[in-house]
Amino acid sequence: MKIKIGQWKVHILSGGKFLLDGGTMFGVIPKSLWARKMEADAENRILMETNCLLARDGSKTVLIEAGIGYDFSEKERNIYGIREGDNILRSLRETGVSPEEVDFVFLSHLHFDHAGGTVREGKDKKLVPVFPNARHLVQKRDWEDAMENYGVMKSSYQPERLKTLKDHGIIDLIDGDCEPVSGIKCVVSPGHCRGHQIIFLQSQGQTLLFCGDLFPTSFHLKPSWIMAYDLFPCDILREKRKVLESAVEEKWILSFYHDPAARAAMIEKTVKGDYTMVYGLSGF
Ligand SMILES: [Zn+2]
Repeated sequence: MKIKIGQWKVHILSGGKFLLDGGTMFGVIPKSLWARKMEADAENRILMETNCLLARDGSKTVLIEAGIGYDFSEKERNIYGIREGDNILRSLRETGVSPEEVDFVFLSHLHFDHAGGTVREGKDKKLVPVFPNARHLVQKRDWEDAMENYGVMKSSYQPERLKTLKDHGIIDLIDGDCEPVSGIKCVVSPGHCRGHQIIFLQSQGQTLLFCGDLFPTSFHLKPSWIMAYDLFPCDILREKRKVLESAVEEKWILSFYHDPAARAAMIEKTVKGDYTMVYGLSGF
């Protein structure tokens, strides 16, 4: 999928598909409701995408999020249904962009399904950065939480792999809301985890919001459809309402990282007060 945001040409690229328990993706929502939206397999797992953004404006090549990554054990492949070779590198190759050309990698947070694509095993199983010439930008708070493996799930972060970015001096820890690259704004949104950020891509009055795990799929546009993985559900609820209001008012395009079907859309508010997607984004 391609979208034009002013001067930015944006490709939405898969960073690898995987499977997750459907119940955990929808928290307190009963299966009788969510299963109408997303089909579960025999083990109750639903298909998850990792819709990374490749944005270029003629001078900079920016990647937002890096997909699930590489080097999974057979056990992990079975649990998450991960297929060998299904990762961000394959998708980048299809657009003709080499990993060395990427100047910036923005990360909403460092859970493995978002940041895993930044590090892989090279020769002799030594860990190496996948985008060696890129500055990697993440909130300092999330980096600290990743190093301590803070959260309810022990397997969410991969601190040993992430340290590779620090060892190579290519990680920039940002502290709070900022615009580290002209036209790309990071805003802290600490509901999914303490250092989670959402990322705004802006140009010529147009805005695309990369929602990270604030709205992992379009079904999460319903404010109460909140993942069991979210550390602070009440904060998510408040944040969602705020973002939805502004998104409608200012005609933002929202991109949904984990949605296998609706990768990005503008939204509108219905008379009943729900939020629905508007189709027909223009590409380039
Ligand atoms: Zn996620």
